[in-house]
Amino acid sequence: MSNVIERKLASIQRIEKLEAIPGADFIECAYVLGWRVVVRKGDFAKNALACYIEIDSLLPDEPPFAFLKDPKGKVPEEGFVHRLRTKKLKGVVSQGLVMPLSAFSSTIPADVKIGEDVTECIGVKKYEPPVQEKLKVGMAKASFPNFIPKTDEIRVQSIPWIIDAFSAAKVYVTVKLDGTSGTFFIKDGRFGVCSRNQEWKRPMPEPRWRARLTEFALRFGVLKVLRKYGYLRAWQAGARNTYWEVSDAYGIESLMNGLSGNYAIQGEICGPGIQKNRMGLKVVQFFVFDVYDIDKRRYLDYHDQRVFIDRLGKGQLRRVPEVGVFEFPWKTVDEVLNAAEGKYDNGHQREGIVIRTIYETTWNELGRGSFKAISNKYLLSEEDI
Ligand code: AMP
Ligand code: MN
Repeated sequence: MSNVIERKLASIQRIEKLEAIPGADFIECAYVLGWRVVVRKGDFAKNALACYIEIDSLLPDEPPFAFLKDPKGKVPEEGFVHRLRTKKLKGVVSQGLVMPLSAFSSTIPADVKIGEDVTECIGVKKYEPPVQEKLKVGMAKASFPNFIPKTDEIRVQSIPWIIDAFSAAKVYVTVKLDGTSGTFFIKDGRFGVCSRNQEWKRPMPEPRWRARLTEFALRFGVLKVLRKYGYLRAWQAGARNTYWEVSDAYGIESLMNGLSGNYAIQGEICGPGIQKNRMGLKVVQFFVFDVYDIDKRRYLDYHDQRVFIDRLGKGQLRRVPEVGVFEFPWKTVDEVLNAAEGKYDNGHQREGIVIRTIYETTWNELGRGSFKAISNKYLLSEEDI
């Protein structure tokens, strides 16, 4: 099930095409799956097998990646030397890394096949944006429940074949929000609150004297000092948790307690203090993108999801903004990427879109018939790290 297997970030792929870049003498453009990657001229031959590593991968501190080490020793995370990001070279958008198989002669077997997942054997891991202080506090209860799939979406460039497979299928397209993933579930009478990778304990209400003291500390700048010396986390441990605050703000627990059956609702939490709050929200809000029927082990189809959320939320629960419901109209990866471009209501560049069939589908090579297209403008404008 998709909650155990994480998506493959590094795999064996064929170099489908090489293309010269106007005005560039030392680099050229390689085509792998639906990706374009700038490589050193002559490093690869057309049709050769190579190892392709997707953007948002963290590359481990191992010899094959030593050439990407930061000269000042800056690292994206302990044990990793580099995070792969979208780049623009000589006007060409380059995404990911292509490496010759010879670089991995000790880790990748010689008889490896096209499409094979090598993420684990070369030690690549998915980059997850750091969780902010406010979100971090609170106490982990357990790892993410194994009876609910974790939220995730594959990139269209990694499954270019889906474009033919989806042709003329009825799809619903939603706006991809750039917050943090939240899952709320009710199972056999037990209510649970989770972020992307774990379940959280209900926070203990902060005693009044301590809330006062915190307020006092804030006013006189003592908090900064506390934070600097790492006291703040211990101080606030268990006191606040954004996921539980969302649950309380919408009354999700009592709403879900009224359900007959076991369900999870999954969505994106956005607002001040979460990522960069690119939508410019004034308060933290929750936007549902999935309802999962735990007993039947399936997501609700589009129409059922809408009805379910409208009835459960009595108009208070919102779904992610919708671009539309239509027959899948795009013929190429570039056309899908074009459709990803757009703005949030406040005029900020949106992260992208998520595309799904209105009736859930399952595919051998993919699992759920659902994927994301991320705006290249958005990726190139990310200024962090
Ligand atoms: P990423 O943020 O790149 O890890 O992409 C996958 C994540 O996008 C999911 O785990 C969700 O938390 C989030 N997401 C944001 N908006 C949507 C949406 N409209 N549909 C599905 N997932 C979404
Ligand atoms: Mn995200």
